[in-house]
Amino acid sequence: MANNSDSVLQIENYIDGEFVETARYMDSVNPARGVVWAKVPDSGEEELNRAVSAAKKAFETWSKTSVQERSRCLLKMAELLESQLESFAEIESRDQGKPVSVARNVDIPRAVYNLRVFGTAILHHLEMSSFQEDFFALNYTSRLPVGVAGIICPWNLPMYLLTFKIAPALACGNTVVCKPSEMTSVTAWMLCKLCTEAGVPRGVINMVFGTGHRVGDALVRHPDVRVISFTGSTLTAEKIRLATATQCKKLSLELGGKNAAIIFDDVNLEKCIPTVTRSTFINQGEVCLCTSRIFVQRGVFDEFITKFVKSASTITVGDPDDKDTWMGALISPEHLAKVSGYVNLAKEEGATILTGDEPDRIKLNSKNAKGYFFPPTVITNVSDNSKLMQEEIFGPVVCVVPFTTEDEYGLCASIWSQNVNTVHRVARQLQVGTVWANCWLVRDLHMPFGGLKNSGVGREGLIHSVDLFTEVKTVCVQL
Ligand code: NAD
Repeated sequence: MANNSDSVLQIENYIDGEFVETARYMDSVNPARGVVWAKVPDSGEEELNRAVSAAKKAFETWSKTSVQERSRCLLKMAELLESQLESFAEIESRDQGKPVSVARNVDIPRAVYNLRVFGTAILHHLEMSSFQEDFFALNYTSRLPVGVAGIICPWNLPMYLLTFKIAPALACGNTVVCKPSEMTSVTAWMLCKLCTEAGVPRGVINMVFGTGHRVGDALVRHPDVRVISFTGSTLTAEKIRLATATQCKKLSLELGGKNAAIIFDDVNLEKCIPTVTRSTFINQGEVCLCTSRIFVQRGVFDEFITKFVKSASTITVGDPDDKDTWMGALISPEHLAKVSGYVNLAKEEGATILTGDEPDRIKLNSKNAKGYFFPPTVITNVSDNSKLMQEEIFGPVVCVVPFTTEDEYGLCASIWSQNVNTVHRVARQLQVGTVWANCWLVRDLHMPFGGLKNSGVGREGLIHSVDLFTEVKTVCVQL
């Protein structure tokens, strides 16, 4: 249902199986064109309360629905989503600014996969049992759904992350109230249309659109919301922790990163350069796992810099609809200002901008003239304690320096070395949730995902998401 015309699309909340109008709406902008292209509900407490009530009521039935039926609904959603992959990809790109090709090859296929993985995992045995000979006692566990789950997502990977939370929550028998980012709400609304078609009962999935400080805050505070899965910034997570401090909710917080690539002298540069280019600039650098500082051992530093800068400077930035575009637009003018502010700071600090600072770097056609584009930027000669090395920039800007190690954030890191001992030794030392060696973003959904320190609390991933969305009960029976 790609809306190619200039007319503005209006989306609605999805509550208790119905699309419902709201009193207030706000603008959603197409970042590649800088124009309003959708009106999104600016929901508040009233809409939220209705959604939670619907989810609570639906929980009574959904939590007792057979796993086969829950699985069937998720698999049907996956099938429907896959059949509409192209229109979801186009809309994801229009809403977010990423190239359509990225949404087509990464975001939407992964959303389909999320639904399939959790839709099938739940069919398998996830309980434990043991027998204690000395007490002649049988122990077993059973998993119970938690209740109404609150799901809050950021703007960078809208469908990818939303389905990574909805799928396990539903598979485990919970009902959900979701709050996508106010900047990228449209594909979540499209997903609701599939829910009805997939036979998901009313009230099981509810979607309330709006800002974090209004409806997001109301969602996390609601006493009937028993578990919250949040992905977003460290600052918002702090607010959520404070807002929920007096309630015993389950919380999973997947937050920002300041991810490092560590490149040793014995690196295979042929493999490393394209992967590190990708890990740094894909999705305009707007992936929580994107590399934003590169530590290079001195022996290979010059060669790495030359090859990496060459690779970064050949990236095509432009119209997300263009099949040759590799990098699209940043999400908003505010974010563009934030990212360019870091590059200005680098200049003030006397750092060297190796690529990115050429005035003609981005060539745009007239329809994209007001878009929020920023070139792939590589910086060196930066001190370790510069903000550029310490703070999450979340854009296509990377600093390259000779070796050091210090980590404030701990989401992920990548190691580049052909020496297996180096790989394991460094992997063990790094204080991050995920280490990739000689690769990046090779994600197995069975594996736990999450961060340390300011990068988050809790893990998501197959059994880890099941742990989040269930309460495990131990029963001990003496025979
Ligand atoms: P954000 O924290 O500003 O917003 C995330 C979501 O939280 C949005 O839906 C927003 O409306 C909502 N929100 C804002 N204030 C709220 C409040 N007080 N109560 C409840 N909800 C509130 O983050 P963002 O700018 O949308 O996303 C970028 C951030 O997300 C980056 O820091 C990035 O690293 C992080 N991120 C992390 C992961 C991960 O898996 N670790 C993945 C993607 C993005």
